Amino acid sequence: MSHYWSRIVHSLTPYVPGEQPKIANLIKLNTNENPYGPSPRVIEAMQAELGDDLRLYPDPSSDRLRQAIADYYGLELNQVFVGNGSDEVLAHTFQGLLKQDKPLLFPDISYSFYPVYCGLYEVEYQQVPLGDDFAINIDDYLVENGGIIFPNPNAPTGRLLELGEIQKLLQKNTESVVVVDEAYIDFGGESAVGLINQYPNLLVIQTVSKSRSLAGIRVGYAMGNPDLIEALVRVKDSFNSYPLDRMAIVGATAAIQDVDYFRKTCDRVIASREEVTAELERLGFDVIPSAANFIFAAPSKISAQDLADELRERGIIVRYFNKPRIDQYLRITIGTDDQNRALISALQSIIPAG
Ligand code: PMP
Repeated sequence: MSHYWSRIVHSLTPYVPGEQPKIANLIKLNTNENPYGPSPRVIEAMQAELGDDLRLYPDPSSDRLRQAIADYYGLELNQVFVGNGSDEVLAHTFQGLLKQDKPLLFPDISYSFYPVYCGLYEVEYQQVPLGDDFAINIDDYLVENGGIIFPNPNAPTGRLLELGEIQKLLQKNTESVVVVDEAYIDFGGESAVGLINQYPNLLVIQTVSKSRSLAGIRVGYAMGNPDLIEALVRVKDSFNSYPLDRMAIVGATAAIQDVDYFRKTCDRVIASREEVTAELERLGFDVIPSAANFIFAAPSKISAQDLADELRERGIIVRYFNKPRIDQYLRITIGTDDQNRALISALQSIIPAG
């Protein structure tokens, strides 16, 4: 606490990201990174960018990258916004579109950065409880609101809301912005991006951090009606003219363009997720059906917290949330085959048999 702080700083409860420990040989299954490296074309593009041009500012609107995203999804350039990680895109969305007189709605179990942005930008919000099966029920959102946001698949549950349900919500909720945070959509869901020409109040946010193995360069993007995009541009240009550096622009552009590599690595993660799910069920876990690159599962013979501690002692870290309704679950990121095998054999040694 400092007497020099502004009023808002006193009231903040900042987001706590998953640990990035500096311990060698750790099996890190706690922050949903991709177990495979980025496309070789990404590395090549970034190496080619290393040179004297780094003395120059990057393109403030990252047109090359926005065009690559627009081409991939069949959109116009003015339907795409890019930012420094989807966290920054989300932040601008909260400030530029979701801060309204009526409360913003999001699920009670969801990405825990949402309430943090509400605190930072003084956005009024209401959390809508998920069903007992952790499913989002769109009927629960058909009330007066200043906006709606949810991840799809949801985090940390991994549960997917079918596209048909999102369309039903958009047909009924026409007066406020609906944001679908698709950080994990490429691991098993269908993107809502195909609906943006039909629904001017739909904003879809994605990231290269997960399915394109580039959490290290910080690039996220939003796709929607040019009117929504303009709001984000206005916030961005009142905040930071150059949110993406030269390395990030060329790296993310190459990642979006290397569709084969992207599909191949996503397919591997999906196949591993199904294998790990079957193993966890054999070990007595209650596993929430996942369409993401992680699994949300509750052990039956040991508390989730104890299990997380035991795994850590064996050099494996997973994410535990000490929060109501989910304190018996662990969120486990899908790793390489070797990492997944090490996880399962550690679990076999920790969990009592029978
Ligand atoms: N949305 C969700 C649901 C997430 O889990 C994350 C990752 N923590 C993000 C957005 C942000 O991802 P990034 O800033 O790396 O794009």
